Amino acid sequence: MSQDRRVRVAIVGAGIVGLTFAIALNEFDRDHKFAIDIYEATPELSEIGAGINVWPRTWEILKQFGLEDTLTPCFDHAPDLEPRIIFGVRKGDQKDGFKVHDIIGNGGALRIHRADFQRSLLKHLPLPGTAATKMNSLCAVHLSHRLINYSYTNAGPITLNFEGKPSTTCDILIGADGIKSSLRPMFLNRLPNPQRYDKFREPVWSGTVAYRGLVSREDLEKVYPGHRILDHPGLMYTGKSRYTVMYPVSGGNFINVVAIVHDTSKDTTVWKGPWKTDVTQAEFFEQYTGWDEEVQALIRCVKQPTKWALQSLNHLDVFAKGRVFLMGDSAHAMLPHLGAGASVGIEDAYILASLLTHHSTPRVLSTHYINHLASVYNTIRVPRAISMAKSTIDTGYLCNLEAPIYEGYKPGDEIPMDLLVEGARTIERNWSWTTTNASEDRWRAEELLGRGGEMAML
Ligand SMILES: Cc1cc2nc3c(=O)[nH]c(=O)nc-3n(C[C@H](O)[C@H](O)[C@H](O)COP(=O)(O)OP(=O)(O)OC[C@H]3O[C@@H](n4cnc5c(N)ncnc54)[C@H](O)[C@@H]3O)c2cc1C
Repeated sequence: MSQDRRVRVAIVGAGIVGLTFAIALNEFDRDHKFAIDIYEATPELSEIGAGINVWPRTWEILKQFGLEDTLTPCFDHAPDLEPRIIFGVRKGDQKDGFKVHDIIGNGGALRIHRADFQRSLLKHLPLPGTAATKMNSLCAVHLSHRLINYSYTNAGPITLNFEGKPSTTCDILIGADGIKSSLRPMFLNRLPNPQRYDKFREPVWSGTVAYRGLVSREDLEKVYPGHRILDHPGLMYTGKSRYTVMYPVSGGNFINVVAIVHDTSKDTTVWKGPWKTDVTQAEFFEQYTGWDEEVQALIRCVKQPTKWALQSLNHLDVFAKGRVFLMGDSAHAMLPHLGAGASVGIEDAYILASLLTHHSTPRVLSTHYINHLASVYNTIRVPRAISMAKSTIDTGYLCNLEAPIYEGYKPGDEIPMDLLVEGARTIERNWSWTTTNASEDRWRAEELLGRGGEMAML
């Protein structure tokens, strides 16, 4: 890499995490060192699914990326750190459901429609005509570019091969291509002792499916006037082997519904068939037979439910080697019970952008230096992602009333209130990370970078 030219960063995948990384790098690139190319397989950018939770910890990061003014109007409430209900938990697998516990967190959850989130991110890419206030890095987006291979020699650039498109090169390669990543298996194949990583190549099914849909406020008011969710920040109806969460998005005009159904006998098996399918309302309804009328009324209003097989990755323990970095779902796709997958990916973006733009990182990246930087990224990001992935599994067992404290109870059984409250309080504790400060991880990463950096530059 010559002294005067920019470091060329290729980001594969323009999902929430790939886009956020591009914005972060541009925002922090005060020395104008980087040129970013984003390669996306699809011909247009769209986010599937409806609502997404953004947490105070993540919000603090997004603010550092300059997104505050654009995102704030899209949230269900103005961001603050007031104690707020994340979910009101109710026992739902019986006709006469009842309140268990309000899960409270400082700042609660900021709820946003995924399409609004993506539109906001696109506005901040440093491209001509966008709202990006800084144009530090050069940036280009290449749609219909599906990565099929990459190769490199130690000294030369990385060559990227795309399906039906000319090859290109880069200096640093970012795999942000989601749970079905093509880059992850290629990355694992190039690690020493690659057979050790066989179990990380393909996602694993959790035995769980999620029914998802949006309900218009108007429809719900007609079907069930005065429904509790019409005037509530978020509700969770728990039951044996299934639970439903609902919360308003798009200024309260719609209610986002996610309804989980778990078959423990299928845990860690292979899902056969498409990951996402449209299903009939009758199929969705049947899963919640005998449940509280508040849940059933909502299901009746979901005009086009979809069913998602919930898959995740085994806990991969290396996200970077040399000049190739995995981030987001391609590194650590996790189950959605904590609503944290994108947040953890945004943290990856934050840490890597901080390291690459740190004042001690030279413009010309020697092999030694980039290896050191990759090891710092692994040190900071791998344990954090694994601990979140484990916590979300535990949370799922609590929400589905399948944790050990609920052993022996069948669907619809009376469960002592103290056990229900104990479970809900544990879920509340599992969300305590949401008010922690990701800057501490950044400082630790930068300290580690500085500590080994001088040696690595020799
Ligand atoms: C039901 C449910 C609820 C959730 N709720 C939340 C929540 O509330 N909060 C939260 O933080 N997270 C939540 N998540 C998790 C979150 O949706 C994901 O973690 C996040 O969207 C992953 O983003 P990503 O950019 O890593 O991957 P993706 O969004 O999958 O993006 C990957 C991109 O890469 C592209 N691509 C793939 N292969 C190639 C290739 N070979 N070449 C080029 N491009 C390629 C794809 O087309 C895609 O655009 C939830 C998940 C589910 C299933």
